Amino acid sequence: MTDSNTSGSEFALAIHGGAGTILRSKMTPEREAAYHAGLRRSLDAGRVILADGGSALDAVSAAVMALEDEPLFNAGRGAVYTSAGKQEMDAAVMDGSDRSAGAVAGICGPRNPVLAARAVMEHSGHVLLIGESAMEFCRRQGLAFAEPSYFFTEQRWQALQETLAMRQGGDEDLDESRKHGTVGAVARDRNGNLAAATSTGGMTAKAPGRVGDSPVIGAGTWADNETCAVSATGHGEIFIRYAAAHEIASRMRYAGQTLDDAARAVVIDMLAPAGGSGGIIAVDHAGHVSLPFNCSGMYRGVVKDDGRLLTAIYDEPLIDFRNA
Ligand code: ASP
Repeated sequence: MTDSNTSGSEFALAIHGGAGTILRSKMTPEREAAYHAGLRRSLDAGRVILADGGSALDAVSAAVMALEDEPLFNAGRGAVYTSAGKQEMDAAVMDGSDRSAGAVAGICGPRNPVLAARAVMEHSGHVLLIGESAMEFCRRQGLAFAEPSYFFTEQRWQALQETLAMRQGGDEDLDESRKHGTVGAVARDRNGNLAAATSTGGMTAKAPGRVGDSPVIGAGTWADNETCAVSATGHGEIFIRYAAAHEIASRMRYAGQTLDDAARAVVIDMLAPAGGSGGIIAVDHAGHVSLPFNCSGMYRGVVKDDGRLLTAIYDEPLIDFRNA
């Protein structure tokens, strides 16, 4: 999906709630409505900031926080479990105005991992902190923590049991919704600054210590005012190997491709044949938005200066619920 650009001082925000969507055959109208409502809450959280002249960085942080708070999505509350039955969350944020970036990996405790990533960016002098030391840093920063019970969801716990049972029987879990998911946001603010944020529980039954693409700057998260801001979702190992987000920016910078051409080339022509099922959301310096994916669906949404909250799940046009 591509959108027309914004003019000079207009804003744009795109979000995703992961490419691991529930199969259409298993989706109920109630669940579908709940996913759209969760996406709209996130869009609205970012829209309020951007409409008020706030920064892209604040908008993507707020939009991702709203998705982390929503147990339907695999990030923060509702994160998936490792093969050892633990939650290990990864998150990143990047400011396109100066390429400052912060990320965390393998944490469980901070209520909003995206705020942990932002604290790393703003207060640590580093880009990526991991595990226990990252959590100690978050405690010193005064970030809000939550008990393991806050992050627990029956649905993710059952998904782990099913995946482990399949593994024992020698089968690979092919159900995308059970396997993975992620949340992310990209924005262009009224001053023309870009930012991206991504947060995830990773992949169900991943090995303890495994880190995916989300907190790897240039793989699952990227922002640079001269080109674009990108947040990815999908099979993280492949996205890392292809430096997916940075590849999109490079195609724009060095080959003069449009955002949509670059994004599609990477998601459809490069990642898909390599086994990198998933998608990305991206916005460029002019406010064009692109949201390609190469699998059955990606929870996603867009809001622009006119304030319409547009959301979609499957291979379908974005839906404006005000007019639905
Ligand atoms: N990209 C995430 C990871 O590999 C998972 C996902 O987006 O589905 O950790």
